[in-house]
Order: sequence, then structure tokens, then C-alpha cells
Amino acid sequence: MYDGESRAGPDRFEVLARDGSARRGRLSTAHGHVDTPAFVAVGTQASVKGVDPDLVAASGVQVLFANTYHLYLRPGAEVIAEHGGLHRFMGWPRPLMTDSGGFQVFSLGASIDHGVGKLSNIFPDEQGDGSASEAAGEARASTSPRRPTSGGSMVRVGENEVHFVSHVDGSRHVFTPERSVAVQRALGADVMLAFDECTSPLHDASYTRASMERTHRWARRCLAAFRSGDAPHGYEQALYGVVQGGALEELRRESADAITELGFDGIAIGGNLGRSHHDMHRVLEWTVPALDAALPRHLLGIGDVPGVLAAVSRGIDTFDCVAPTRNARTGTVLARLDDEGRPRRAFRLNLKNAAFARDARPLEDGCDCGTCRRFSRAYLRHLLKSGEGLGPQLLTVHNLRFMERLMAGLRAAIEHGELEAHVVEWLGHNGRLADAVLATDREDAG
Ligand SMILES: [Zn+2]
Repeated sequence: MYDGESRAGPDRFEVLARDGSARRGRLSTAHGHVDTPAFVAVGTQASVKGVDPDLVAASGVQVLFANTYHLYLRPGAEVIAEHGGLHRFMGWPRPLMTDSGGFQVFSLGASIDHGVGKLSNIFPDEQGDGSASEAAGEARASTSPRRPTSGGSMVRVGENEVHFVSHVDGSRHVFTPERSVAVQRALGADVMLAFDECTSPLHDASYTRASMERTHRWARRCLAAFRSGDAPHGYEQALYGVVQGGALEELRRESADAITELGFDGIAIGGNLGRSHHDMHRVLEWTVPALDAALPRHLLGIGDVPGVLAAVSRGIDTFDCVAPTRNARTGTVLARLDDEGRPRRAFRLNLKNAAFARDARPLEDGCDCGTCRRFSRAYLRHLLKSGEGLGPQLLTVHNLRFMERLMAGLRAAIEHGELEAHVVEWLGHNGRLADAVLATDREDAG
């Protein structure tokens, strides 16, 4: 099962084992390696909110994802560069990724104009428990802290540049592909993303096509800027291209081919993935087979358990998502089983529920995190209800550890050729979901 496929270059990636389309790999960077499939925890403002980076690392997190848009506006890329780059600035000597800034720029524009989030993990048509609409609300809150009241757009897209208004102080800014690369070079992340336009699910096919083609032209400009510039911090950085094309088959296939041909160090799949897990599965099936198998593949914005299982089964190596940490801060705890040993709905429990007020048990039986080893649900709920800063930290540590245990289990399952059985073990209580995660065509046939 070991084929040792590898690619030379600054962003060396090895596929160590395969199981179906899934890969068990290793991404090597100047700041250490990442065993894949891997969850990339989000530290938007160069911090996993409320948690000491040593505790983040102790939970097993291998790589963090920071947002260029936010750091460009505050404190400014030049401040971070003066401090030796993001790793030193934030006390995280391990692998780091940054996005291009495009996601937040466009989150404040197009998707707000349409009144919808375009985060790919928002599936408004699914899950009757309200968790999806809750997630959508959170996404909107996070991507549009200052929604424009005039109804006017906060972003204007041109062929050569994007004009946008800072959500921090209303100042005006211009981003170009070259500027995005320069800012990310200065930040110094190990993996950078090409500047792309994110479209909303409500953009029509012709706009989505025009946007995708512009994203391809920007991708070429990003690569040219990346190749002609020096690595300012003295170590190699990698640049991933971003596949766009909305939830449209023709566009996704075209974008996957176009971005693959350009010769990036890796590929990210971005933008609108549709309105359901089923839509996301189809986007991955259109996209992933067209990608160079030797390159690492990152999926932007997926972090729920069925989404992770589906992405890994379809050959995704890394993915970032703010949900596990953001949800932790409001008492939404990741846990696999309920008191009867049945899988929890969406693998979550709401610690604010009064039923936990006197509960002496840990958040999750069998969890080896520092929170579960020391504290009861009753105490953690008390911290949350009292607004104590320790509460969100302890809950975030648990949710990060949950994700890392999930990922470690997936890596082991791929190594042993047991991924399908592993997915069924997680989702077998919901046969339709398990079928959908494992084989979309079976679902289509049904
Ligand atoms: Zn725990």
C-alpha cells in the first residue's frame, strides 16, 4: 500500500499510503512536517482565540491557518515582518498557512450584498436541528462585523485590482494578486494561497464563469510575483492555487484543469461548494480527479464530522474550519456519543443546557485532553455561565483534541486499508449519510 510518491520542491509532499481515493501523506515545511489528512486550526488574528499556543500544540494541532486580510489591516504585515514573521510574532514555531485575503474581502462585498454567507460549510437546506442556520449566522457575524447600513457594496472588483473598505476603521484599500503575494511573503507562512475571487451561491452562472476566469488570470499573476520575489525570511514558502467555479460541474472541471496546469506547489478548493453535503461531494468528485496526484490538496472551510469524512474519503489532505474553535467558545462541545452510547446529533452537546448543571462527568468519556482529565461538565458550564475567560479556553482545548483524535483515527484507518469501515463506524447510525459520504453514485442511483 506504500507507494512513496513524492514531488521535489520547497513544499515537499509525500503520499505514504492510499485507501481508495483517500491518501495518508506527509507535508514537509521549513517549520516541520504535517501528517495528513490533517485539520488546520484557525487563528484568524494570529491567535487561536483565548488559548496559549503551547496548549494548542499539546492538543495535537500540527498547523494553523491565519487570515491575511485581518493581519494586513491590523497590526499590518510590515509590523509582523519586523518581528521576524508570523511564527515568531505569535509564538508558533510550527507550520502555518495564510489565505490570500480574498475570502474576507469578498465576504464583505458580494455575499453581503446578497444577504447570504458563502462559506462552504453552510448548508442551509440540511439538518433540521437549526445547527446549519446557526452556523450561517455565525459565519455572517464573523465575516461582516460591520455590515454596511447603506446597502452599498464594500467591495469593487476590477480586472486588475479589488477596492475594499476596512471593517476596522472604514479606510479604503486596494488589493492586487501581486499585493496579496507580497503581504503573505512578509507574513512568512509556510503555505500561502493565490488571490482569488469567491462567488456567492446566488451569483448566476455567467458571473461565476467570468469570476472564475478572472481568478485564473490572477493565479498566473500570483505565480509570476511569487517566482520573481525572494523569500524575505530566509526559508522557502509554498504557494497553492485555488480552484473556483461554484457548484457548477463544467466550471469546476475547467478550473481544476486550469489551476493544475499552472504549476503551483499545491491546490486549494475554494468558493461556494453548494447548499448541501451532497453538493459538496459532487464538487469534490468533479474537481479532485483532475488534480495532480503528487500535489497536496486543501479544502477551504470544512470542519464538521461528516464533511471531514467525505473530504478525506475523496482524497483531500488538509482542511481548515473555524467552527470547532468558535463553537467551543459558546459552549457547543464536540462529543461522539450520548449517555446511551448512541451517536450525538451532529456530534455535539450544548453545555449551556440546564441538564449539565450538576453533571460530574467529563465533557466526553474517554477523551484524553487536559480539560476532560481535570474538570466536570458542571464546573465548565459554571465558567461559561459566569463569563469566566477560562471556560472558552478549556472548551476550545477539548474541541481541538476531538478533531485531532478524529484525524489520527482517519490516518490509521487509511494506513490499514480500513477507511470505509471506519466511516461506517462513525456514521453507521445514519445509513443514508454513510452511503452519501462513501459513494455518491449509490445515492444518485437511489
Ligand atoms: Zn476532552
